[in-house]
Amino acid sequence: MTTTTGTYLIKGASILGGEASDVLIRDGIIAEIGHGLDAGGATVIDAAGCVALPGMVDVHTHLREPGREDAETVETGTRAAALGGYTAVHAMANSTPVADTAGVVEQVYTLGRAAGWVDVRPVGAVTVGLAGEQLAELGAMADSRARVRMFSDDGICVHDPVLMRRALEYVKAFDGVVAQHAQEPRLTAGAQMNEGDVSAVLGLTGWPAVAEESIIARDVLLAQHVGSRLHVCHVSTAGSVEIIRWAKERGIDVTAEVTPHHLLLTDDLVRSYDPVFKVNPPLRTDADVQALRAGLADGTIDVVGTDHAPHPSEHKECEWAQAAMGMTGLETALSVVQHAMIETGLMTWADFARVTSTAAAKIGRLSDQGRPIEAGEPANLILVDPAARWTVDPSTMATMGRNSPFKGRELPGKVVATFYKGHPTVLEGALNTPHPDAAATTAGVA
Ligand SMILES: [Zn+2]
Repeated sequence: MTTTTGTYLIKGASILGGEASDVLIRDGIIAEIGHGLDAGGATVIDAAGCVALPGMVDVHTHLREPGREDAETVETGTRAAALGGYTAVHAMANSTPVADTAGVVEQVYTLGRAAGWVDVRPVGAVTVGLAGEQLAELGAMADSRARVRMFSDDGICVHDPVLMRRALEYVKAFDGVVAQHAQEPRLTAGAQMNEGDVSAVLGLTGWPAVAEESIIARDVLLAQHVGSRLHVCHVSTAGSVEIIRWAKERGIDVTAEVTPHHLLLTDDLVRSYDPVFKVNPPLRTDADVQALRAGLADGTIDVVGTDHAPHPSEHKECEWAQAAMGMTGLETALSVVQHAMIETGLMTWADFARVTSTAAAKIGRLSDQGRPIEAGEPANLILVDPAARWTVDPSTMATMGRNSPFKGRELPGKVVATFYKGHPTVLEGALNTPHPDAAATTAGVA
C-alpha cells in the first residue's frame, strides 16, 4: 500500500559533498537531478550550503518496545532516528518478550509502519529467550511479514560454538546474517570497564580486549568453515580490527560495525565515575580509538552502528557498579562521525555515505535503502548543514533516554531535512510529519 506523497524541489544541494545540483522528488522517487530545474508546483527547499546524502541506515538500534516502554518506544525511538538523519533502523531483539518468534518481530514491524518515521527492520534473536541454549525459529521470522534477515542475541554473546555454527548454517537458507555481540562471558564476569591502566587505578574489575578478540577469531573461522555470513557488532579494540582485516584478506564473508562513541571517547572518562560512560563493550584506550578510525577509513570496518541504548534515568543516575550499560546515539551519530572522521581528514562525505548507509543496507539486505542519489531511485535522502555547530542537550532530544555521553559537547553538522520514501519527516531541522502510509497502516491495524 503506497500513499501519494508530495512533490519537492531541493535547490542547490552538494550531492555527497560534490557538485551542487537540484533534486526533484515526486511520488516517493527521485524524479530528476540537474541544474536550474523548474519548480512547477513543487514545494521548494533551499539547500545552499547543504550536503545531500542517502538516508542513514542503522544496523544496531535498541527501541525497547515491547516491554520497556519506560525507556523508549518505537514511536519515540524512530522520531529520534528521523531527526538524526536515518531512514531505516534495525531494532535489536532484546525486548520483553524477546523477539524470538514470528509474532514478536511482526509486532515490532507493524509498530514501525504505524509510526511512519523510518523503516523499522526487526532483528530476530538467535536463541530462544536469548538464553543461548536452543535456536529460535529463525526460518519463521525470515518468512514472516517482517522478513528478518539479521539475527542477534545482542547484549549476550552466542558463546556456545556449536550453537553459533548451527545458526550460521541455518541463516544461509535465506541469505541471512548472524550479528554477534563478541564477548567471552567467562572472561568478563563482573566486569565494569576496560581492563587497563585506568581500571587498575580505579580498582574496578576490568574487561580484557581478549574477551572480544577471541570470540571474533573463533567466529570468522566458523563462518569460513560453513561458508556463511557473519557480522560483528560494535568492534571496540585494535586487536579486533586486525583479526577482521586478516579474515577479509582470506576472503571470509565478515562485516563489522563500530559505534560513534568508540570513535571518540576513551576509558579515561570513567575516572569521573559518571555512569553515562558505562557501556558494553566498554570505552577503550586512545590507541584503540585510533585503530578503529583507521579501520573504518580503510574499509576493514564496514559500517557505523549506533547501539542506541536508552535507559530510564533511575538506571543511570546511580552508583557506577549498579548502573545499566548503554548510551543513546541516534541524534548524535552524524555529528560524531563528522567530527571524528571528516574533520580529521580520514574520510570524505562519499565515504560517510558508504559507512552510514550503503554498506549498512547491504548487510541488512534492504533493497530500497542505501541507494545512490540518482534519478529513478527511492527518495530516501537527507540534507546536512556541515557548517552548523550545536551543543548536545539530551533534555531537548526526541529519544526518551537522557543518557548521552556527549552531553554539553559542541559538535559539527546538523540534519536539516530527512526524506523518507519521498516524504519529509524532518524539515528545517525539526520533526515534520510521519509518512502518509503510516495513517493507512494504523487504519489497517484497527
Ligand atoms: Zn551489543
